[in-house]
Amino acid sequence: MIASEAFQKLMEGNKRYIASGKYSGDVSEETRILTAREGQHPYAVILCCSDSREIPEAIFSAGIGDLFVIRVAGNVIGKHELGSIEYAAGHLGCPLVLVLGHDHCGAVGAALHREADGDILSIIDEILEAAGNETDEFKASCLNVKNSVKKIKENAAVRRLIEKGLEIRGAIYRLERGAVELL
Ligand SMILES: [Zn+2]
Repeated sequence: MIASEAFQKLMEGNKRYIASGKYSGDVSEETRILTAREGQHPYAVILCCSDSREIPEAIFSAGIGDLFVIRVAGNVIGKHELGSIEYAAGHLGCPLVLVLGHDHCGAVGAALHREADGDILSIIDEILEAAGNETDEFKASCLNVKNSVKKIKENAAVRRLIEKGLEIRGAIYRLERGAVELL
């Protein structure tokens, strides 16, 4: 599958999710056994926030073997996330990476209000670097997604994969409507 087809599949899955309001991914025993025996060929990497209200497989009507999901609060990018992306794109052949932020993000809110201590600061610092002087939470979330996309594209291994057709995109998930909006 090429990147544009993977992207279309995600967006169609999101439309089905909004229309039905239900999870419709394939989690059947048949697919479970098939993918266990023959391996995984996910069509997209989703880097999204750990927020319990943003469930990637449900949002995209995806099931077993469909999505390679990386979740971290605030959908920030560090070495572990980059390594996971390199693996999924380079070894599993994922043609598309979608960074999916969301509105009402607690991590972004904490960054804007400087409310954090301990290891949370490693996440907050990343978000503040992306948000700059922005004080609007939604706009800061969008800037944060764009920053993660930029960081992924700067990675040397990812750059080589981009030359072979890998695409990196950013989007925002709207908690109330269930809609994914491309940035
Ligand atoms: Zn969040």
